[in-house]
Amino acid sequence: MGFLSVLSFTHWLVRQFVRPGDLVIDATVGNGVDTVFLAQLVGAKGKVYGFDIQREALEQTRKRCMESLPDLKIVHLHLMDHARMKSVLPPDEIGRIRAVMFNLGYLPHSDERITTRPETTLPALEAALDVLQDGGILTVVLYSGHPGGREESEAVRRWAEQLDEGRYRVLCYRYLNRRNDPPYLIAVEKKTSV
Ligand code: SAM
Repeated sequence: MGFLSVLSFTHWLVRQFVRPGDLVIDATVGNGVDTVFLAQLVGAKGKVYGFDIQREALEQTRKRCMESLPDLKIVHLHLMDHARMKSVLPPDEIGRIRAVMFNLGYLPHSDERITTRPETTLPALEAALDVLQDGGILTVVLYSGHPGGREESEAVRRWAEQLDEGRYRVLCYRYLNRRNDPPYLIAVEKKTSV
């Protein structure tokens, strides 16, 4: 077997953490690939919250969910900036989220000017750490090839590097010799407190 692609490795990693019945978040639903992936992992007793600022993305995701999932009730989609994710979670679910996935950049085959930006991405990542349960995982797939992408990726990397190592494990999965700005993953595990 060769190396897993960044997106396949991200799914593999999330699969190690998420169990049926878990609460999870797709912070950038886009075309809904990660939303469906998460919904299949958590099953009928779980819940997936999804966020995007584009109506088109939510419509695509709803369609993909209808085609792929037996039960749409577990998917809760919000047309909303992910920096405000805490405002839609019931208070008793804050600190109980098992996984939060971010896939930054722009919606493929759409307006490339509508993209994630560090001003909202960094607050959203902080919010994600707040809502995660101990032992939970945050994944961020980063792209630096589009305008603003390099600045955003660097900002996320700096943010991840300064996280308290007593509280978080942080890894980076990245091709070092590939040209044309390949995507890479930063993942954060919130350690279980003792
Ligand atoms: N994970 C998606 C999939 O599986 O198809 C791809 C996500 S796409 C690369 C990034 C998405 O982030 C776009 O749909 C874009 O509209 C959305 N986005 C940009 N800024 C956002 C924000 N502040 N809050 C939530 N979503 C945002």
